Amino acid sequence: MQAAITTATLVGVDAVPVEVQVDVSSGLPVFGIVGLADTAVQEARDRVRSALRAAGFDFPNARVIVNLAPAPLRKHGTGFDLPIALGVLCATGQLSTRAFDGSVAVGELGLDGSVRTVPGLLAHALAAARADARLLGPRLAADAVGAVPGLKYHGLDDLRSLRQGVPPPTVPGPARSSLSPDGGVDLADVAGHQGAKRCLEIAAAGGHNVLFVGPPGSGKTMLARALCGLQTPLTENERLETALVHSVAGLDPAPALDGVRPFRAPHHSSSIAGLVGGGAPPRPGEISLAHHGVLFLDELPEFGPAALQVLRQPLEEGVVTLVRAQGAVTYPARVTLVAAMNPCPCGFAGDPDRACTCSPGAVARYPARVGGPLFDRMDIAVRVARIDPGLLLCRERAETTTADVSARVRQAVEFRGSRTRSGSQPPTLSLAARSLLEASARSQHLSGRAVTRVLRVARTIADLARTDSIAEEHVAEAVGYRGWDLG
Ligand SMILES: [Zn+2]
Repeated sequence: MQAAITTATLVGVDAVPVEVQVDVSSGLPVFGIVGLADTAVQEARDRVRSALRAAGFDFPNARVIVNLAPAPLRKHGTGFDLPIALGVLCATGQLSTRAFDGSVAVGELGLDGSVRTVPGLLAHALAAARADARLLGPRLAADAVGAVPGLKYHGLDDLRSLRQGVPPPTVPGPARSSLSPDGGVDLADVAGHQGAKRCLEIAAAGGHNVLFVGPPGSGKTMLARALCGLQTPLTENERLETALVHSVAGLDPAPALDGVRPFRAPHHSSSIAGLVGGGAPPRPGEISLAHHGVLFLDELPEFGPAALQVLRQPLEEGVVTLVRAQGAVTYPARVTLVAAMNPCPCGFAGDPDRACTCSPGAVARYPARVGGPLFDRMDIAVRVARIDPGLLLCRERAETTTADVSARVRQAVEFRGSRTRSGSQPPTLSLAARSLLEASARSQHLSGRAVTRVLRVARTIADLARTDSIAEEHVAEAVGYRGWDLG
């Protein structure tokens, strides 16, 4: 007898439909899986056999062949356990095939018959809702997919519960993040650094990339961490998009579903696959896990030329494309990049109190390790000095608080929204602003790309001031943030 159950496999962040066809015929007892299945799918045989028996069903003493169609699509992961088990049950007449019409099933099985969650369940949920199919999956994961509009989710604890037929739809609770938002740094706790804080305000309002240059211990990491708390919360769409990437990577999607922007700070020893994604099966990298949030690269020159080279394109396009033998896989990667670096290998070039011990050649070569094209993508570069110890010991909190700045950011974002809705499309520059921009472009040898970026930053500064037209002072401030050049 034959039966077919619909499931899906992940390609990037999409769940692509796969039909699990099960054929049970008399002959020598074998249990085979064909159709480009990876190791985890092949191992389903052992889990399915034990789980069915543990749940009180029969595993046929016959020839059982599972075909995963379409054959050319590579299938990976443990989510095939449940659809294969259902296929066997239907093909042997232990369950009615009709009960699974219009259903998609995904889930890993324990040897005891329990149904467990799998990476990317949110992707399966979105695909099922789009196809107007009901999704059969682990009951414990119901809350994680509750945010998907229009989803009919039927959660299973255990294969045993199928003895009474397909369980009724599961009503999900709210997705709850176990962690407090990682934007735990309040600007009020960062002493001094008024200039850097202003840069964070502009970056939060306009989504601009920031480079902090300063000696070790000057608070660059604290400043970067404070940025998440200044950005507006994730919109409904952004929540799902970000949670989807986290789900596919096997991370908890709940913080993103709660609206918390991700903050990712990969170490400079991270592999290229770790940064931009890769591996078999492919997994999203840090730049995608930071989607709609902050990617913080501390000690930027230490990442090495190969890693910085592969980051360039995703930073520009907001998407990572991994080209593979079976076709390209894409992951979203729209991030605000915050990078930090010392001014020289020892860290103290330009420091008023400590002498730099590097040779002039080493100081000159240090920024070149990052390379001009990546510097070009840094919209705002700012020097961060070591803070006077007297200021650090001062018990009074800084006057700038995250609450104040995030309120201004929200107003600027709203102002931009009303400005773009009213249709004043090209940025309007005052005459003085235009001539200052032209003069700066000439004197600083700004590339066309750099001029565009200066103009964008100036537009954000004007939005923060809530003025329709970009004034000379806005351009002057924006040009000032490109002052830190390659040395
Ligand atoms: Zn030095």
